[in-house]
Amino acid sequence: MFTPPPSPLPIPNDPIAAAGAGPLESKPKRSRLSGHQRLLSLVVPVIVLVLISLASRHAVDRPMDIDVSSAPAPHAASHWANRVSGLKRHIPKRLASADPADQLLPVPTATTSAPGTTTPQQLGAGISSVAPAIPNPPWPVPTPFPQPFDSSLSSNFSTPACSSFFSSFATNMTFRACRPFSLLLGTSNTFFNIQSNLTELTAVMGGTCDTTRSIDDCRTTMDWLASEIVKPGVCGPDIANQNGNVLEALNGFKTYDLMRQAGCLVNQRSNAYCFVESVASSSPVDTYFYALPIGTPVPQKSIPSCSPCIKSLMSLYAGYATDKSLPLSKVYSPAQKLAASSCGPDYAQAMANSAVTRTAVTTVSFWLFFGVALGVLLATGASTSHLSQALAISHRDSYTYPAMNFEDVEERDGVRLSWNVWPSSRIEATRTVVPIAALYTPLKQREDLPPVLYEPVTCKPPCRAILNPYCQIDVRGKLWICPFCLQRNAFPPHYKDISNTNLPAELLPKYTTIEYTLSRPAPVPPIFLFVVDTCLDEEDLKALRDALVLSLSLLPAHALVGLITFGTMTQVHELGYAECSKSYVFRGGKEYTAKQIQDMLNLSSANRAAPRPGQPVPPQSFGAARFLLPISQVEFQLTSILEQLARDPWPVANDKRPLRCTGVAISVAVGLLESTFSNTGARIMVFSGGPATEGPGMVVSNELREPIRSHHDIDRDSVKHFKRASKFYEGLAKRAAQNGHAIDLFAGCLDQVGLLEMKLLANMTNGVIVLSDSFATSIFKQSFIRIFNKDAQGHLQMGFNATFDVQTTKELKVSGLIGHAISANKKSACVGETEIGIAQTSAWKICTLTPRTSTAVYFEVVTPAGQPLQAGSRGLIQFVTHFQHSSGQMRLRVSTIARNFAEAGSPTISASFDQEAAAVLMARIAVFKAEIDDSPDVLRWLDRMLIRLCQKFADYRKEDTMSFRLADNFSIYPQFMFHLRRSQFLQVFNNSPDETAFYR
Ligand SMILES: [Zn+2]
Repeated sequence: MFTPPPSPLPIPNDPIAAAGAGPLESKPKRSRLSGHQRLLSLVVPVIVLVLISLASRHAVDRPMDIDVSSAPAPHAASHWANRVSGLKRHIPKRLASADPADQLLPVPTATTSAPGTTTPQQLGAGISSVAPAIPNPPWPVPTPFPQPFDSSLSSNFSTPACSSFFSSFATNMTFRACRPFSLLLGTSNTFFNIQSNLTELTAVMGGTCDTTRSIDDCRTTMDWLASEIVKPGVCGPDIANQNGNVLEALNGFKTYDLMRQAGCLVNQRSNAYCFVESVASSSPVDTYFYALPIGTPVPQKSIPSCSPCIKSLMSLYAGYATDKSLPLSKVYSPAQKLAASSCGPDYAQAMANSAVTRTAVTTVSFWLFFGVALGVLLATGASTSHLSQALAISHRDSYTYPAMNFEDVEERDGVRLSWNVWPSSRIEATRTVVPIAALYTPLKQREDLPPVLYEPVTCKPPCRAILNPYCQIDVRGKLWICPFCLQRNAFPPHYKDISNTNLPAELLPKYTTIEYTLSRPAPVPPIFLFVVDTCLDEEDLKALRDALVLSLSLLPAHALVGLITFGTMTQVHELGYAECSKSYVFRGGKEYTAKQIQDMLNLSSANRAAPRPGQPVPPQSFGAARFLLPISQVEFQLTSILEQLARDPWPVANDKRPLRCTGVAISVAVGLLESTFSNTGARIMVFSGGPATEGPGMVVSNELREPIRSHHDIDRDSVKHFKRASKFYEGLAKRAAQNGHAIDLFAGCLDQVGLLEMKLLANMTNGVIVLSDSFATSIFKQSFIRIFNKDAQGHLQMGFNATFDVQTTKELKVSGLIGHAISANKKSACVGETEIGIAQTSAWKICTLTPRTSTAVYFEVVTPAGQPLQAGSRGLIQFVTHFQHSSGQMRLRVSTIARNFAEAGSPTISASFDQEAAAVLMARIAVFKAEIDDSPDVLRWLDRMLIRLCQKFADYRKEDTMSFRLADNFSIYPQFMFHLRRSQFLQVFNNSPDETAFYR
């Protein structure tokens, strides 16, 4: 069996913080992002605020308006001179006749290259929000001319050869004289700053179009540079490492020609450069179209101006977009669709058409095959294995990867992952900040699942993984290889007819999720035990009675029901006694042990009799059958008890609360089920109209002058009953959860009922909590009735007494689960060292399931001796949910998912980020932490995590807040985090402790 290697990181009490915190301190400087951590810690909160306040995601990427106070051009020229004076003053030998503007050494006078022409200052231009017309003769270009990589180059290269290649071409006069717009746009700080002055920008754009070297010469130079930079002896290793600078340079060389044409497009009507107009525009959308060749997508849902400029631009791009080595190929199609949908179908060419006309047949067929194949796969909800193959194809190309449709995957397998391509080493996994994690919905409804009326084929113990479409099978040898433990297993005898064309459903690629109906029925039908408060006013009690009577008609006829009522005393009603109503009374002020309850109800083990399904329950006068009976038998009697249910008869003084022994009632209910039907599906439904004021579990005394506790009281640790009551209910919650019994809490009270103390009853057992002002409100009635929703076959949409198992391949370990479950203490080989949530187990008990129950499961990457995995290797996760269906059958739902690993820094990892899933997964960690820690600590943790994520994945220039840019699939994540910080999940202000317990 595989054993995990020792962790390279210490694992303190706070595993998440450690997971994020550890490696960053030692993070080597490997990109231009890493040098700016201190800056970012200041910048990111600002950015987040800006993001929120602007509400439009793209607004921060570009300056929105023109800086009217900026200095006019001549001043700016000397300003540039100051800026570049720190550059190496080195003039290469190849200096031929060139524009002095391209020289490295600042020339003494500001603007000299075209003597006799009008200077911008004389024109009075430079302070304008309208793109200036192109002057004739042209304005002199700024000296020195903006150059690529003027700020971001430091020791970011893995080899000295690459570093010296960069410094030599950046200082080379032949290169500089080409003034590549393709590189200026993405890598020049000076060029970026110039965009705030439209006159200077027009002059610079003029400079990029009118170079002293001919366009052909420049093209040759750029082609040569592009061929040189990829060589293994030059920057090859950095390209393999996805070094941002090197990729930008390569892309800039390759798109020199394209971008030069793009930058020189002129709006014929205004005679201004199209690019300058887009910068001048009040909406920044158009500028995104210029950034397409550097791989920046146009934000979806934005509205382009539909100008003739963008139309020409798009037709220019169409020819290049088929070159899959360019980032353009990835972002063109969405931009084209956006433009076509906003500006008409003829506005922008679709890529496939242009491919037919402009590129070689092989490229066309590959693209068509790829696009069509993927489209078909997604449309038909085909298997993940095909999808992974499709993704694997795209891995070979560093730039192109299809966006996975997260919703389709969720539809199919009920799973959403924070990352859909996984980092291949533990260190890299911690650097990606958000852990690899899955939100899994075990009972996700899927109409097309076939009924599978046989037992699953499982691997040998201790693995017991279930046969799935990712298993290798040998139809001739009747063998299959388990992908989790790599053992060979023989198919069982009844699989002898298996062949490649005759496969059982569980091996078909489309059934990565499948539900088996097991031959063994549940020993007992589902049980519903009502625990009803009678200290209610008449109106409330009537409403509650009506709701309960109505619910009886919604339960399956074979379900067992029972009734406990409580007020000053607790009464267990003996439904099996038909002659008159009879009940056992428990005193409200006393704490009963499980044994005492058992004895008082006369439930000693000899007397226990569980009715068998399909058999009529014998009319017994002893054992469980006295209290819990099939609804078909006792409906009349129970209805009449409920209808006669009266208010608690004990008098209540004006200055007192009624005596209410909620704690005793719940403990009797738990004890009754525990001794009669342990480890079988049951729900205890508690209806409480006020706080417990007597006996164990009391949260406040019955004196009205003693107010119920507030957050403030709890913080000061001055609440008399809080700790004892919480402990009491926690004990009950654990017992109920161990037995597979769920506890629902319905509160119908204007004031608090002590939900804070009781919350574990529902949280550990996945019961529901409904908070309403009274049982007469529609919020209570509707919520209550909704619990009994039925599926198409008329069965309750409810699973009982479930166990949830997670199995992983060896590179992945389970860190834990956050959800309404308890640990089943299964210490299998896939349990990891990091702890998140309910940890140190790979199986959990969930007492009840609905189609909306979802669990968050967290994973860590574990690689032998810290070695990264081979790129392209695949990891698998299998979720197995075993539960009692409301029809009385046992069912087994299996979902198996596979995802690829990618090497550190691969863009496929960031492209696979599902920000919605990640936000939920992080929120669950935060709320889990908030239950243990102070909320300021949790908020700080959330901030740290957000900053780290931005450091890792955002694109920005140092000390330039406006350059901050997140990819589309990260763009709303900061907003989620911002709102989470302020939400009632983490903030207690203005909420009562009960409400906080409810929200969390
Ligand atoms: Zn196995």
